Amino acid sequence: MLVVLGAPTLAGATKYRRPFAPALGVKYGVDHDGSKTNDSCKSFDCDGACYDGHKGSDFPLPFGTDVVAAADGVATTVVQGCPDYGGLGSTCGGGFGNYVKLTHADGRATYYGHMKNGSIVVAQGATVKCGQKLGQSASSGSSTGPHLHFEPREGGATSLDPFAGGCSQPTSLWVQQSGKLPGDQCETACACSAGQTQDQGCGSCGIQHRGCDAACQWGAWGACGGEGPCAPGATDSTSCACGGQRTRTCSPSCQWGAYGECAPCPEAGAAGAGGGTQSAGAGGATIAGSAGTPGKGGGGALGGAPPGAAGHAGVPRAGGRAGAAGTAPSNGGAAGRRSIMLETTEASEEGACSCATPRHGDAPWLGAAAALIVSIARRRRRA
Ligand SMILES: [Zn+2]
Repeated sequence: MLVVLGAPTLAGATKYRRPFAPALGVKYGVDHDGSKTNDSCKSFDCDGACYDGHKGSDFPLPFGTDVVAAADGVATTVVQGCPDYGGLGSTCGGGFGNYVKLTHADGRATYYGHMKNGSIVVAQGATVKCGQKLGQSASSGSSTGPHLHFEPREGGATSLDPFAGGCSQPTSLWVQQSGKLPGDQCETACACSAGQTQDQGCGSCGIQHRGCDAACQWGAWGACGGEGPCAPGATDSTSCACGGQRTRTCSPSCQWGAYGECAPCPEAGAAGAGGGTQSAGAGGATIAGSAGTPGKGGGGALGGAPPGAAGHAGVPRAGGRAGAAGTAPSNGGAAGRRSIMLETTEASEEGACSCATPRHGDAPWLGAAAALIVSIARRRRRA
């Protein structure tokens, strides 16, 4: 009795692929009947497809069929020099004829027997990958016809039946076993533990998940969920009522922050003087060339007057407007800035960013704002 066959498969034991390409199942398997001399045998699935005392699995490969490694390993023994047809009882190569022994990561070895002389292409000591060609089939050693004798061993001498079955063990040593036919897929290393899950960030603050499947491989990432409306650090601008822009920034949690302040609106005094004189501001910024275009005056000043240009206009307030916008340093700006600051404060007490230019005449609050500005101007005149 080969007692080891009943032992549980070690965790992490190397699994094997079919060591050749043709879809051929085992013809004569390992004998499990407990006797080497009773002239009968019991294979892994309890039928008689085996030889009495046979320790390996015989696959009837045509002469010259490529034999490949069943798993990653090292070619620890390579024997050649035996005739391609040895005949029953031949002791060449210990009966295996020309053969390769691979030693695997789990300490077990696999033997590939009866190969063709001179066909073995791996050198002793070479590292071999699963599926890599070792040589070709023949009938060297103790053999009556071309076939491959495949035999895993544990601890050097104890043979293992790679097939699971009622008369062997419940766990197959093949990566895949379908009756007498092993699969031809190599074992893949476990990437994860079955049932394990993993998350990762995606998109704008989103999260996606994946799970580890039964074959210990990660599945695909799922859809991205829980995204915020924006990407951290992104900015977004909107037009201010009086021209210019105000900006908001996306927070690290992918939510928009509040919009910033608008630049102060155009000069209140100009509006008080009848709106049209707003163009004096534009006159200061002579490049605007929009003296007769109310409304654009402020824009021209904001856009940047040439240094000194505002000062030449002799309208300190207009110069100050340019200074306040921070876009056009000018000589006139310093004096003007003070009055602007004052006006801004007064205007903001009313909670309005008021624009007194006719271009916004359709806004209902303009009349009130203009009145307010006029009163401010009068107050200042009195002061
Ligand atoms: Zn055999």
